[in-house]
Amino acid sequence: MWDPYAEFETEVLPNGLTVHCAHWPNRPWIRVGFQVHSGADQDPSDLEGLAHFTEHMVVANLVTGSDFVDKFFDRHGGEVTLGATAFPYIRYTCSLPNDPSTALNAFSILGNLLFTEEMSEGLEKERKIVLEEELRSRPQFPWEFDLIREVGRSLFNGHHRSRHLRPLGYAETISRFTQKDVQTYYDTHYVPANVSMVVVGGMNLRELVKIISTTPLAAEKPGKRNPLPEALDKAPSPLQSVYRVSRQEKLGVSDGKPTGSYTSFALLPGTMQYTAPLLYALMLRPLLFKRIREEKNLTYNVSVRCRNHTFLREIKIECDSFQHESADLIDDLVDKSIQDVVNDLDAFERQKTSMVKSYTLTDLNAKSLVSDSMDDLTYWGRIISSIEEMERRQSLTIENVREVVSLLEKNRRVTAIVLP
Ligand SMILES: [Zn+2]
Repeated sequence: MWDPYAEFETEVLPNGLTVHCAHWPNRPWIRVGFQVHSGADQDPSDLEGLAHFTEHMVVANLVTGSDFVDKFFDRHGGEVTLGATAFPYIRYTCSLPNDPSTALNAFSILGNLLFTEEMSEGLEKERKIVLEEELRSRPQFPWEFDLIREVGRSLFNGHHRSRHLRPLGYAETISRFTQKDVQTYYDTHYVPANVSMVVVGGMNLRELVKIISTTPLAAEKPGKRNPLPEALDKAPSPLQSVYRVSRQEKLGVSDGKPTGSYTSFALLPGTMQYTAPLLYALMLRPLLFKRIREEKNLTYNVSVRCRNHTFLREIKIECDSFQHESADLIDDLVDKSIQDVVNDLDAFERQKTSMVKSYTLTDLNAKSLVSDSMDDLTYWGRIISSIEEMERRQSLTIENVREVVSLLEKNRRVTAIVLP
């Protein structure tokens, strides 16, 4: 079996930077990802959004200016993404020709960006940009935003994640950031020991490390690796399990939108094997589709998604387009299907086979290999080989999947029903 994840070789440089490299001989390019092992989860209290804001400031304070960087990568036909902030990480990615002198220049730019900057410029300019970004990211009406915040607070009851639902932060916290806050975040988290570099392409680890060693990526800067969050063996109990809102009531008039929505979230222990809720979701979705859409025609589509929060897992059930009177019916069908689905052994076998086999058919390119590997570092602290991932999927039993059911009981979920 082709196992590209098993091909990575790893070296930790004297300054603490970890380099993972998968050598694909004869490729004329390299694809590179830098992962800072900190993100919005490391935002100080009352400064929610600081990691994302720092990502903006890092670009604003490039000694060369960001225009120069874009032009540099354009000139070589490569691409660069200067920053994406999530709860557990901040990432920078690029692609470039497999050529030592271009790599030297690219790594000098990125080394400066990651480790040697002074956050002296652009505080107010970036604040304006990020405040606009925050405003644009909100739903159309304030009550919708309040509902999302409330649902999140209820779901993560007492856990530090309950304070913000997106890495962006809020207008009130963004307004508070000082230059010192940004510099402190940067000096604490943008340090070699807290950064992993993932490289795939025509360059091997030895050549790569030789080039890196002559750039600011090899700079000494004190600091430590932010540890993986500890997996919780129990999810918090929700503050409130059902929220019901009427659009028409909130707006005072009908806005002509004849649709409502049904969204239900559940958190599962982070110690649970993550493939169990994944398979459970694959089984539940067709059953809900059949009952809610095909048999009753109450909605257009149903989705069941899984999310890995590292310390917890999440299942989200969602559908919309229902009429006023169908809300309770949908709610009942979801409750019932959550129980019924695990009695269908055929569905279990079918979805498990699909989950195992589809993995072997993944049409993997270097870009997805880099990003999947960075995900592995986020969730497991190491790159997981294809063999190991296959074993995780193959070893699932119906008992594993049944364990999910009791965690999805109505009072363990947070359900938001928006009536038309
Ligand atoms: Zn942004």
